[in-house]
Amino acid sequence: MQIDRVDMFQVRKHLINPFRASSHATQALNHIVIRAETKDGLVGWGECSALDDPYYMGETVETAWHILKDFLVPPVLGRSWESVEQFVAFYEPVKANPFAKAGIEMAAWDLLARSRGVTVASLLGGTRDEILSGVSLGIERDGGRLIELITQYLEEGYRRVKVKIAPGHDVQVVELVRKHFPDVPLMVDANSAYTLEDIPHLRALDPFKLMMIEQPLAWDDIVDHARLQAAIETPVCLDESIRTARDARHAIDMKSCRVINIKVARVGGLLEAKRIHDVCLGKVPVWCGGMHDYGIGRAANLALASLPGFSLPGDISGFDKYFVEDVVEPPILGQRGAIAVPQGPGLGHDVVEERIRAQTVRALELRAK
Ligand code: MG
Repeated sequence: MQIDRVDMFQVRKHLINPFRASSHATQALNHIVIRAETKDGLVGWGECSALDDPYYMGETVETAWHILKDFLVPPVLGRSWESVEQFVAFYEPVKANPFAKAGIEMAAWDLLARSRGVTVASLLGGTRDEILSGVSLGIERDGGRLIELITQYLEEGYRRVKVKIAPGHDVQVVELVRKHFPDVPLMVDANSAYTLEDIPHLRALDPFKLMMIEQPLAWDDIVDHARLQAAIETPVCLDESIRTARDARHAIDMKSCRVINIKVARVGGLLEAKRIHDVCLGKVPVWCGGMHDYGIGRAANLALASLPGFSLPGDISGFDKYFVEDVVEPPILGQRGAIAVPQGPGLGHDVVEERIRAQTVRALELRAK
């Protein structure tokens, strides 16, 4: 396999509903879509889901564009490779920048699977035909509206409800939701909004039998989370803190969490995501988080979530919860809270290039010298 041409498209899409977390708020996205073409004319696609602002993991659309253009794409152009391990070794000197790396790496998986006529899910070792969807709700200040939304999503079949919390908007929100839905699988995501001083306050969540509290403490912490987990009954789930399989091993060894959320973008691609899954297998359950991905990233999430350790419903839902139109065909849709793992070659969905180009606000073509 040899990639001779890479096209980068900054594709702007509006969200149907603006989304608010304790760390950031989003109305429109500017994901970078990557089209990689081999010298034989095979085309693979990847998606970099960096945000406009650096409030989640530090990267932005601008930094990802720069790192892809100047440091990730040039070393892979015109080089021959047979496995994704070989492919990522071309840019191994580049530290951090996982969102940018995940974008180009996804195209490599798509190409490799297409060249063999198999699915990315099967290359990864997936065993599930369908994955179960949970719904993730942003910070909703109007309690009545929150209950209305949850009612609607449960009627649509979603299997788990996640609500974002922040100081001043936590225990009373959980109490309200539990009053209306005493048995629904419920979890909360704090996006690093608390400190160890909040332990007594976070303990007040224990009676509500939450599935987990996601990333309560600092975005880069593993040590303090172990102290917190020892002090509360609610299982801690780590998101932002887990960037590598080594981080996952440390967190499990230190008992910093009882669940891990794996996001392809946060960990630099499907290869590291699979390694994290393997470290967790038989020790802590994992689930697949997302970044409001377009159809390409969403298909990659489905492939990952088909691995056996993904025993909890994740954040993957149909595109129609977020966007008016998908960028792939067939569009990714859920049915009664489940989504089929694609069976076609590669990522299993065909990218509609006209839709990508129609929403492109910046493009760049890079070729092997
Ligand atoms: Mg999270």
